[in-house]
Amino acid sequence: MALSRGLRCCARVFSWIPVLIITSVVLWSYYAYVFELCVFTISNTLEKVAYLLVFHVCFVMFSWTYWKAIFTPPATPCKKFQLSYSDKDRYEREERPDAQKQILVDIAKSLPIFTRATSGAIRFCDRCQVLKPDRSHHCSVCETCVLKMDHHCPWVNNCVGFSNYKFFLLFLSYSMVYCVFISASVFRFFINFWVGDLPNGPAKFHVLFLMFVALMFLVSLMFLLGYHCWLVVQNRSTLEAFSAPVFTTGPDRNGFNVGIRRNLQQVFGDNKRLWFLPICTSQGDGHYFPLKSLSESSTSLLANEEKWDEEEESEDDNISGDRDPSVTVEMDEEE
Ligand SMILES: [Zn+2]
Ligand SMILES: [Zn+2]
Repeated sequence: MALSRGLRCCARVFSWIPVLIITSVVLWSYYAYVFELCVFTISNTLEKVAYLLVFHVCFVMFSWTYWKAIFTPPATPCKKFQLSYSDKDRYEREERPDAQKQILVDIAKSLPIFTRATSGAIRFCDRCQVLKPDRSHHCSVCETCVLKMDHHCPWVNNCVGFSNYKFFLLFLSYSMVYCVFISASVFRFFINFWVGDLPNGPAKFHVLFLMFVALMFLVSLMFLLGYHCWLVVQNRSTLEAFSAPVFTTGPDRNGFNVGIRRNLQQVFGDNKRLWFLPICTSQGDGHYFPLKSLSESSTSLLANEEKWDEEEESEDDNISGDRDPSVTVEMDEEE
């Protein structure tokens, strides 16, 4: 027991290594750009000030978005999705698996759950004791169910999901802007050092490495950001891109795709001026998402939310037109 606790503690410490690597590279790039390039190498004051100004804007936006991606805790299912004390008691006392499943099916009737496990069963997490909201998954690293889980990212040592997906996308975007600006502004000095127009010294090596490192990160970021832009436009999470969400009608990769504009609004919000700031503006609360099938008959961005409210009012009646009465429950579906 003590050993497993010790191992878990070690894993938690080691999990910060990728973040430390990124932070060290960025801090070094700050020193190399500001001091070695701008202060010691560039002689023209106007050029120096202009470079420093733009660099600091990029640096602040990068650091802000990176901070938010790392330290925004993953959103977890609310109480309504957890088994109540009485349900849990009833569930644990019941010995017949089929009856246990029926208890969960009954609870699911009052919730906006439209996705199913691949077997057609209602998705239930045995560890968190919750009925999984649509698009949520259990993360074995965070040891909790995460709303609209995208993936667990070691570079931010956090789960990327509903609460920080916008921040993660902005972090990728500003990292790219940071790399583009560094490589574009350093290029002239890189060539000058290379042809011997500038004196040998520590600045030469800092500028050379700055160019190489910026280009290296730029290439990898281009692929990653490009992939995530495609996912946002299609309204898919990384997990959903690998395994299509299953609905009562069967698997559908485009089940949550409600059109490019509305897909973007779901992640970035209605106010376009806030799209580029790491401020939480994503629509909804991560428990329900407009379905393609529902949006075709409704203009509301949060069609399911309204549906849920209606269902809450008629909870005692257990009225739900979208559920298949024959569904079963799949226990602790591992993601
Ligand atoms: Zn879970
Ligand atoms: Zn995680």
